[in-house]
Amino acid sequence: MKPFTTLPLSQVFLDNIQSLKYETMTDIQEMSIPPILKGRDVLAQAKTGSGKTAAFGIGLLHNMDTQRYRVQALVLCPTRELAEQVTGEIRRLARFQHNIKLLKITGGFPMRKQEHSLSHQAHIVVGTPGRIQKLLHKGALILDEVKMVVLDEADRMLDMGFIDQIEDILAFAPTKRQTLCFSATFPDEIKALSQSVMNDPVEITVETQHEPTVIKQFFYEMAPTTKAKAVVSLLAKHKPESTIVFCNTKDSCRKVEQELLATGLHSLAIHGDLEQKERTEVLIRFSNGSCRILVATDVAARGLDIKDLSAVINYELPFETETYVHRIGRTGRAGSEGLAFSLMKAKDSVRLDLINEFTNSRYIAEHLEFEESCSVEDLAPSMITLSINGGRRNKISAGDILGALTSKNGIPGDDVGKIDRQDYITFVAVKRGSAARALKVLEEDQIKGRLFKAMIHDS
Ligand code: AMP
Repeated sequence: MKPFTTLPLSQVFLDNIQSLKYETMTDIQEMSIPPILKGRDVLAQAKTGSGKTAAFGIGLLHNMDTQRYRVQALVLCPTRELAEQVTGEIRRLARFQHNIKLLKITGGFPMRKQEHSLSHQAHIVVGTPGRIQKLLHKGALILDEVKMVVLDEADRMLDMGFIDQIEDILAFAPTKRQTLCFSATFPDEIKALSQSVMNDPVEITVETQHEPTVIKQFFYEMAPTTKAKAVVSLLAKHKPESTIVFCNTKDSCRKVEQELLATGLHSLAIHGDLEQKERTEVLIRFSNGSCRILVATDVAARGLDIKDLSAVINYELPFETETYVHRIGRTGRAGSEGLAFSLMKAKDSVRLDLINEFTNSRYIAEHLEFEESCSVEDLAPSMITLSINGGRRNKISAGDILGALTSKNGIPGDDVGKIDRQDYITFVAVKRGSAARALKVLEEDQIKGRLFKAMIHDS
């Protein structure tokens, strides 16, 4: 494991990487950054959690001519959430360069505003294929001076049917450019895509990142009517800090959320029917510790970068074995032990056989002993989310919020958790015990010289 200081980067860049507490490079970084810095095309096998964003982020920032206000790098992501995370990571990496302009261009936000932002130019654009393509065809986004294109989670983009859009978008970029492609898997379609859009790429694969031994897997056979009770029982017994309950369809997602609510267990559901604003709020509340249980479909959970997920529950076994492996791979990361519970019907035994075959295991369906006295009280989250109706565009900084809560109002700094700024709203997680006081402060105290409306997100 090499330190970042072995890379030919400027001292301010290295200092900033160090301030992010990145000390040594991850495998994918160690293998991909040197060829990226040399200007080579790179086709890398990398999953969420491997440090791939920093790998291409460092490459594209190193290459940037900040004096020139033209789009020089384009990053395409399969989902809005991933685009959001990638933008955040590049912003953190770019902190050493004051004048760098980064724009996130995805669906779910007004196109007019994006056109306006683009008219003021940017150095880096991160976005999803659909919206990027539209803005290219309208002439609002110009790629004539693009030096680098990154296809992030390329296999997912293909799964989601974005291939035509990607090819169309790339036709707007100069052929003399650097193209990086990151993908968790290398199916034939990826190889074909890389051949058609890349120039003699360096291929990088890393050993599989999920150590099967750190994910404890259990399969329970039961009647569908007892599943909600089983979830409560499993959570009450193991008390995982954060759990995703996976469902196969959005209908069952909604149903499961209601069933869990009927048992007194509070969860949030995320599926394709939610509006972008609602999705963002759900993800923020889950990642800041004010919701411990997320009910999700596979599609909605894509691109979710939530670290240290303690448990995964398959409310239904997925149809595809790969989906099973992908779901449980979200827990037990970075050496911490993860739990994966699958609730199955008797006729699902064929799917379990396929999973055993695919993963070379010998799991059998067990009978679940329900906990006698399970209390959902113990599963209440320690944090609660508050928000004010002002964000990045109102020049609100995380420090403004933290300062207002802690300085003269006496809320201990330790009681304030993650602060997530969006364009026009800022979310802050606080310990439950301080929630009432925090709400009063945010409602009654001026921040950046004005009053904002504050609310608690608790349902
Ligand atoms: P990614 O695979 O890009 O989603 O990154 C996973 C997480 O690892 C992100 O939260 C990064 O901030 C973090 N990360 C990336 N590179 C490093 C590193 N070299 N050391 C420690 N953390 C890192």
